[in-house]
Amino acid sequence: MVITFEANATAEQLHAVEAKLRDLGFQVVRAPSTGRVVLAAVGDGALPPLEEVRVMPGVAEALRIPEPFKLASRSFRQETSVIRIGDVEIGGSAVVLMAGPCTIESEEQMVKTAAAVRASGARVLRGGAFKPRTSPYSFQGLGEEGLKILARVREETGLPIVTEVLDTETVELVAQYADCLQVGARNMQNFSLLKKLGRTRKPILLKRGMSATLEELLLSAEYLLAEGNYEVILCERGVRTFSDHTRNTLDLSAVPYVQRISHLPILVDPSHGTGKRQKVLPLSRAAVAVGADGLMIEVHPHPEAALSDGPQALLPEMFAELMRQVRLLAPVVGRTA
Ligand code: PEP
Ligand code: MN
Repeated sequence: MVITFEANATAEQLHAVEAKLRDLGFQVVRAPSTGRVVLAAVGDGALPPLEEVRVMPGVAEALRIPEPFKLASRSFRQETSVIRIGDVEIGGSAVVLMAGPCTIESEEQMVKTAAAVRASGARVLRGGAFKPRTSPYSFQGLGEEGLKILARVREETGLPIVTEVLDTETVELVAQYADCLQVGARNMQNFSLLKKLGRTRKPILLKRGMSATLEELLLSAEYLLAEGNYEVILCERGVRTFSDHTRNTLDLSAVPYVQRISHLPILVDPSHGTGKRQKVLPLSRAAVAVGADGLMIEVHPHPEAALSDGPQALLPEMFAELMRQVRLLAPVVGRTA
């Protein structure tokens, strides 16, 4: 249930409603909004009849939240949430580009990549230090050394960094270095990881699982919100289908659908979504056209030598062209880039 209060509601009136719902076994959460006070009662108890709450002093409206995800829903919060990574706003008027290699391999690679993508207009640097690899024999990432490289490159370039956290054991470590913690597709339903990340105060980039419905994605986001972390950015990165001309099938219809039912911003990752360098530019154009709040793009100065995901990595000059086209397209959908 979501309860909106009158503009002049008193603290006592608010507390009376909160107390009533808590007594019924609900957790009561206040929407992070600048306007009128909005509360949500979440939990698995039996909600009181709406009328009973509506007649309480100070209450303007009480409505059920029809979706199974409550705090992530637009019924709870009507304005799109703007999430900050460093000083970069995701979910505002700008389409934000995050770019960098799949995995951090060396300082030289990161410095080169970061300088190039920054010059083209990327606002956030990506790169994995802990990599979720299908084979245990594949390069697993540089670990903390990779995080240190990221932090040094942030110093040099001013670009905030997003990097993946693989497990509960390394949450504190990764959080020490990163400006935004990425939860990969394979971990979207790692509920103990989500709960722990919900208790951190770092923004989370939550990628859609490769066979997850949008409801499952939003319920995973709900784990983060339910623990008190509202800084959540979603990411569509393609799902598994019978189609085998691309690595995954990029489900661009997820963008307007999620934007209708949730207030959380959503990015598109056409790199993992297609797995093919030549497909990244056209799908990036489509993602901007469909209303994505940003793009996550893999870029490598020498893709042929990349230790992971080389076939989908753009050369820096290809990223520059992508950025040029994104800048032309963004105004068509009322955005900037
Ligand atoms: C990545 O971003 O490098 C990655 C591993 O992505 P995903 O979790 O979407 O496969
Ligand atoms: Mn990758």
